[in-house]
Amino acid sequence: MTGRRMRSNFCKQKRRIKSTTPAKGVCGICGGPVSDVKVKNTAMLCFIPLWWKTHHEILCKNCEWSD
Ligand SMILES: [Zn+2]
Repeated sequence: MTGRRMRSNFCKQKRRIKSTTPAKGVCGICGGPVSDVKVKNTAMLCFIPLWWKTHHEILCKNCEWSD
């Protein structure tokens, strides 16, 4: 699978946090407050963005646990 190896050299993903809002519930590890984090993932081919998608994550402020 040489093609696959080639792709990983040119393609990389950028992860950028767009916004953070306080979420309901507590952290499963430390019981601290959690936030609803909007993350934008962008796949880059050299410097050209190929695609991007936004998703939500629940992230703990204390221990950085995420679900
Ligand atoms: Zn935590």
